[in-house]
Amino acid sequence: MKLMTVIGARPQFIKAATVSRVLAAQYPAAREILVHTGQHYDANMSDVFFDELDIPRPDHHLGVGGGSHGQNTGRMLEKLDALIIQEKPDWVLVYGDTDSTLAGALAAAKLHVPVAHVEAGLRFFNRRMPGEINRVLTDHVADLLFAPTRVAQHNLQKEGVVDSKIHVVGDVMYDASLYYKALARKPEWFDALGIEDFVLCTIHRAENTDDAHRMQGILSGLAESSLPVVLPLHPRTRKQLAQFRLSLPDTIRVVEPVGYLEMVWLESHCRLVVTDSGGVQKEAYFYGKPCVTLGDETEWVELVDVGVNVLVGADRKRIVAGISQVDLAEFEANGLYGRGDSVQRILERLFVRASSCAAV
Ligand code: UDP
Repeated sequence: MKLMTVIGARPQFIKAATVSRVLAAQYPAAREILVHTGQHYDANMSDVFFDELDIPRPDHHLGVGGGSHGQNTGRMLEKLDALIIQEKPDWVLVYGDTDSTLAGALAAAKLHVPVAHVEAGLRFFNRRMPGEINRVLTDHVADLLFAPTRVAQHNLQKEGVVDSKIHVVGDVMYDASLYYKALARKPEWFDALGIEDFVLCTIHRAENTDDAHRMQGILSGLAESSLPVVLPLHPRTRKQLAQFRLSLPDTIRVVEPVGYLEMVWLESHCRLVVTDSGGVQKEAYFYGKPCVTLGDETEWVELVDVGVNVLVGADRKRIVAGISQVDLAEFEANGLYGRGDSVQRILERLFVRASSCAAV
């Protein structure tokens, strides 16, 4: 069984590390070909994850990054098409909702190579979000759709995806949180900040970073936080802040993006998370921290339903109210995202399908 995994962005490195570790340990007959599209290329957005999460060096690096969505997707598609013809994988495995996800799925589907999609069925119900188009199209060319939640399963059913392709397996990020929690590492710079309690913040979604008005609203809201805000600054956000000539309020301590093990430490030790990241919203829940989400919608609706996540858009007043209203008490995560065995379930299903295809 030859499996081609296509990844390119920070959250995909973490998810793939979690799956590939179990694959290598428990399925020795499988051969994984790892393809890095190059979508994220900075050392602290890419290399650090390969180093600290023990991800093998990619078999192929496509070096595509830095362009527009159309340019990136098109270049990846062309290169992946050639690679799939050369490598002849039995399956192509893609994660999440980035341009790398769509390019991997589309290249494989056009060559009649079956596609498995991890994190299938999540929807913002907002087609202006770049990830939404990638998700919908990937789900509709995939052969195996691994949905993390029942909500994701229902979204797929409503779009007419046949039941036999959909498997609710829980969330691989939950598996990752269980495994990496014990390896969490305090950032070297943390003590020098001279703070104890803090709000952890991340901002990177295009609908925020590409809009000066929204960014100003977010910064004004964070300026009123009674606790210091630690902000590992995404390169795109840094670039946009400079372009809009926006300055950061004194409450915010800016640091470089951190590796995953340091991020897990920050998430486990903060008082509250404020973020527009899908992954970080869930991790806040895994580590029992309340979350204020800088957006008008979330794909992780169950967090809002159970009251541990509030959506505040990018509006100063709503952010201030969200930070003060959110119940600051910690809580126990209680199984919204599976039992921590989603990697096992994905691989079992993949191998059952692979052997039944081979038997035909
Ligand atoms: N993350 C990290 N370092 C950081 C910020 C985030 O390791 O400085 C991790 C975070 O813990 C989560 C993942 O990156 O696992 C989320 O990625 P991102 O926010 O870029 O994407 P999204 O989840 O919104 O797709």
